[in-house]
Amino acid sequence: MISIKTPKEIELLKIAGEITGSTHNFLKPYIKPGITTKQLNDLAEDYIIKRGATPSFKGYDGFPAAICTSINNEVVHGIPSNRVLKEGDIISIDIGACYKGYHGDSAWTYPVGKISKNLEYLLEHTEKSLFKGLSAIHDGCHIGDIGFAVSKYATEHNLSVVRELVGHGVGSDVHEDPDVPNYGARHTGPILKEGMVIAVEPMLNLGTRKIYLLDDDWTIITADDKPSAHFEHTVLVTKDGYEILTRR
Ligand code: MG
Ligand code: MG
Repeated sequence: MISIKTPKEIELLKIAGEITGSTHNFLKPYIKPGITTKQLNDLAEDYIIKRGATPSFKGYDGFPAAICTSINNEVVHGIPSNRVLKEGDIISIDIGACYKGYHGDSAWTYPVGKISKNLEYLLEHTEKSLFKGLSAIHDGCHIGDIGFAVSKYATEHNLSVVRELVGHGVGSDVHEDPDVPNYGARHTGPILKEGMVIAVEPMLNLGTRKIYLLDDDWTIITADDKPSAHFEHTVLVTKDGYEILTRR
């Protein structure tokens, strides 16, 4: 069932979203060659706690860290470690913050120092595909309208769409109904109503759309080891469109 949030719940989701977006803002200047993903994790966790929230992903299904850090060919769910970021890497950082029982969820892929033209292209167009997907949202739209918009844009730009991982509803659980795939057909799937809150999160690859789970049982990589990018916002469905809750 897709829940319609009460005004009180929306108020808390807005605060959780603001903390999530601000954590990205806070972290961004630290994303440079020489820092480890564990250092980024600890900075984010401290910031989230200082803001009166808790990291949504820590302990979620046993996830061992506060944020997900996925580098280059890693699609999602990378575990922060002593791995050092290098000039020319890209890193997807997925952050969730829980405030008084309600969550925000937002991922962004960042360049580490100067990156190649290919990677710039991947980041630019994956971000744009997120906003294409969001632009399909309004009271009365179908979930399929979002995925159609994302995949149409991705295909036009020769990027492949990961299908096994999808967006989702957000509320008192970080992952709620409905699934929000990044592919689909117009006018199909559940209908969205004003007051619903969902996360839209395209994961686009430079090579194959196929993915592979590493032995750590968390990190998902591309099957051909080519780079992948991930952009995500949590949004509130409104009468005429949407409101981004995790904006910076
Ligand atoms: Mg996320
Ligand atoms: Mg998500």
